[in-house]
Amino acid sequence: MEFTRLNETHKKELKSMVAPDRFSTGDSNLDLHSRDQSHHEAFRPEAVIWPVSGDEVSAILKYANQHLIPVTGWGAGTSLEGNPIPIKAGLVLDFSQMNHILSVREEDFQVDVEPGIDYKTLNEALRHKGLFFPPDPGASATIGGMIANNASGTRTVRYGSTKDHVLRLSVVLADGEMIEMGTRASKTSSGYDLIHLFVGSEGTLGIVVQATLHLTGLPEEFSAAVVTFPSVEVAGKAVFGIIRSGLDPAMLELLAPECVDLMNREKGLGLDVSPTLLVEFHGPTKTQLADVMEIAREICQEEDCFEFRPALGREERDQLLKARHELGEMLRRNHPDRLTMAMDVAVPITAYPELIAMARKETRNAGVPAYVFGHAGDGNIHVALMRKAEDQRETEIIEGVSHRIVEKALSMDGTATGEHGVGIGKRKYMETEHGRSLEWMKKIKAVFDPNGILNPGKVFP
Ligand SMILES: Cc1cc2nc3c(=O)[nH]c(=O)nc-3n(C[C@H](O)[C@H](O)[C@H](O)COP(=O)(O)OP(=O)(O)OC[C@H]3O[C@@H](n4cnc5c(N)ncnc54)[C@H](O)[C@@H]3O)c2cc1C
Repeated sequence: MEFTRLNETHKKELKSMVAPDRFSTGDSNLDLHSRDQSHHEAFRPEAVIWPVSGDEVSAILKYANQHLIPVTGWGAGTSLEGNPIPIKAGLVLDFSQMNHILSVREEDFQVDVEPGIDYKTLNEALRHKGLFFPPDPGASATIGGMIANNASGTRTVRYGSTKDHVLRLSVVLADGEMIEMGTRASKTSSGYDLIHLFVGSEGTLGIVVQATLHLTGLPEEFSAAVVTFPSVEVAGKAVFGIIRSGLDPAMLELLAPECVDLMNREKGLGLDVSPTLLVEFHGPTKTQLADVMEIAREICQEEDCFEFRPALGREERDQLLKARHELGEMLRRNHPDRLTMAMDVAVPITAYPELIAMARKETRNAGVPAYVFGHAGDGNIHVALMRKAEDQRETEIIEGVSHRIVEKALSMDGTATGEHGVGIGKRKYMETEHGRSLEWMKKIKAVFDPNGILNPGKVFP
């Protein structure tokens, strides 16, 4: 598809659709919207617009579609696979000014939000009502970006990923038509499930302008433990044991020793530098949680864990969780001269021990700084591989390691990305992972966006 470059008339007409200070072609704004948090190459858009309503988005898309101008949604730009990079230029719609909580219906456990609110601000506002939106990618992501990437996090093992919390969406389609999908009922078997088509579509099918989210009550009590193991593989086996036992953990995070070492240095945690599981359970009473933790201890001891340290106080638990959430930033801070490839794959839980052992072996032999960690309870691993910016040899090394880990995950009936999305980096695996259904994805894309103006160059190989 040949897209149109913006000329002065386009700029003037687009600017007139919003307030003048919400349209920019300034260099610093174009640069700010040219890269996410990934290692992928930057591409500048030709203009950035900050819409404040669905009607504005609708008018902009109608115009862009008529003139074949690419449009890419932008939340907070924290993606790790180049998802919001406007590789075909055109317009970026930045949702940071469309960031309001529209209505909270606490008795129904629901909230209506605009897409630009970030989940941390949302949870801060909900806390005093005893409610929260559980998916927590760690970075300050927006709800729109989380919906587009189907983000998840440390709590997903118990509470699900973003897709499990979206009840209703208002979406502007490529031609400017605004549609509503979903229901406020907690279940439905009415018609095709468009919600789950749009969640995870990375802004390639439509632009989300409003969402109704299902919330969860804040847990009454928690119980947390730190467990160390002789190897990541054995830790992976304990993860499998805990999941199989039906104990329903609220967090099962695995950290290879290099991550523990870094967190110790940055946060003074004083943890043993060994393969480590951070384990947490939520429940109604301390007594019930003590029983659950005892079973978890038995499972970990059967796997010959080095140490099982339960009964962490709130302060220590919060400190550990904060350090875990900040791990990505610590990695970057500790290697200022390097670019980070933060890749993720996920496999069925039975395959997790073998995958994590393989990933660890690969990274130890790589000869570049590398870190292995993951949301183990979801069978999800993250590998951060660091390379010098202009070093071709290191680039080939990390691409090789990443490729072999993805191939391994796919060979185990897993997925090339558990939560970061396809973006640019995982397009090449779409055919292997999806086979003929990829052709049907392309047909769906053509139905919703026949001119291909929405986030072009993403998802499809
Ligand atoms: C340190 C660090 C840790 C991370 N950890 C995790 C993790 O644990 N789990 C996880 O899932 N992710 C993680 N991520 C990745 C990232 O935070 C998530 O992918 C997040 O969902 C991106 O949200 P965002 O608001 O930054 O969106 P962006 O990066 O701005 O955009 C993401 C996608 O959404 C599209 N988009 C944005 N707004 C809209 C809209 N209104 N309508 C339609 N499409 C839209 C964009 O075009 C793009 O395709 C991490 C990132 C970092 C930097």
